[in-house]
Amino acid sequence: MGLLKVWKGYRNTVHRNCLATGDQSEGLPYWRNHLFAATLVYVLPFSLFALIPSLYVSWHQELYVLMAVNVTGVAVLVLISLLPGLSVYIRKIVYCAIIYAISVTLLYYLGSYGPGLLYLFAAVTFVLLILDTAYGIAAVLFNLFICILFGVAIYFDWGPGLITYEYDLESWIAVSTNLLLLCFLTVVLLPILFNGLQTTLKRTDQLRLDLEASNKELEQFATVASHDLKEPLRMIRSFVGLLEKNYGSKLDEKGKKYIYYASDGAARMSRLVDDLLEFSRIGRLYNELETVDIERLLDEVRQFHVGTITETNAELRWDSMPKVTGVSISLKLLFQNLIANSLKYRSEERPPVIDIIAVEDDHYWRFSVWDNGIGIEEKYFDQIFQIFKRLHSQETYSGSGIGLAVCKKIVEQHGGRIWVESYPGNGSAFHFTLSKQV
Ligand code: ADP
Repeated sequence: MGLLKVWKGYRNTVHRNCLATGDQSEGLPYWRNHLFAATLVYVLPFSLFALIPSLYVSWHQELYVLMAVNVTGVAVLVLISLLPGLSVYIRKIVYCAIIYAISVTLLYYLGSYGPGLLYLFAAVTFVLLILDTAYGIAAVLFNLFICILFGVAIYFDWGPGLITYEYDLESWIAVSTNLLLLCFLTVVLLPILFNGLQTTLKRTDQLRLDLEASNKELEQFATVASHDLKEPLRMIRSFVGLLEKNYGSKLDEKGKKYIYYASDGAARMSRLVDDLLEFSRIGRLYNELETVDIERLLDEVRQFHVGTITETNAELRWDSMPKVTGVSISLKLLFQNLIANSLKYRSEERPPVIDIIAVEDDHYWRFSVWDNGIGIEEKYFDQIFQIFKRLHSQETYSGSGIGLAVCKKIVEQHGGRIWVESYPGNGSAFHFTLSKQV
């Protein structure tokens, strides 16, 4: 437990030091820092382990400079990982310098037995991954410089290093050109992947911005259109009202009926405009994901319908309900609409009984709202989810035909689907799923 805490503390410190203040929206630069931080997090403990055998071997073979370079390398690694206040760029440069220092020392003292050449290759890869791709070419040129330097050392038989005994100039050229070729290939090929990813990221970002702008425009349009539509409606209603008030006594029954139809039509139109506006807003204005307690939400919905429930003697039942991840206000609207329909399309022969059931699956929650109402014929099962699709006249059941379209939109925005099961004359069940990973 204590060890885990130390590990977490160490990891957080390294991340804090290496991630600067960036966030993912920066794209590649952020991920380069992230990769650098992750590399340090793992390299440091591993290099501590690797240090012990390397010190042992160096001591036995009296390679004291190699020992010193190794110890200094690890010490500097500790500093750039844990020391606050250094810029990320400096940390990266120092890190690459450590790799180069180790690779040159290994080449010098261990020759082809040591991993010196491998470290030179690793240096190029790290430079490409954690710094900019432009530094890659510089790294290859630096490797070339080191190889030439060793070639000169071999040729003139400098120093006590094993490499000078092991190679003649020709074999060194053969070995080092292979390394340089590999480094060069990496420098050419890896940026193709990076640039491709960067382009895709930029394009996605642009698409997101375009979408946000067009959503904003649509929202503005909907608000303006609804305001402009409702203004003449308000006028019609108020003048029809005045007509009734001032001339009502002069009108016969037929005239009064016409006035009633006109004001009722205007009122419905105004409701329709409100509903449409609400429909266009779902998923755009209210999109904060949170943990939603469905049991509490259902209590609120029951409270919302308390008038009709009492009036119709309805029974609304559920067992324990889960907590789900979703947009609270949208989920409330979803249950509100389904329960409103179950109450509205009730049978005249019995009081409404509405059962709400939740079943858990691996990836989603499945909810069902069962009622004992009038039911729906199978041929309408798909149509009822379309906007403005209604199966009854305004006189029999009032409504705008938007309720189920709203439900469908909400469910789909929660990564689920909605469907109906119904037995005409006996009742219906509206089933829907909500994804656990919205
Ligand atoms: P509205 O209720 O305003 O007409 P909805 O989109 O909510 O609009 O419903 C579409 C149609 O589906 C309704 O006109 C009704 O015929 C049918 N319907 C919806 N819910 C039920 C239900 N619980 N029982 C029977 N019919 C239903």
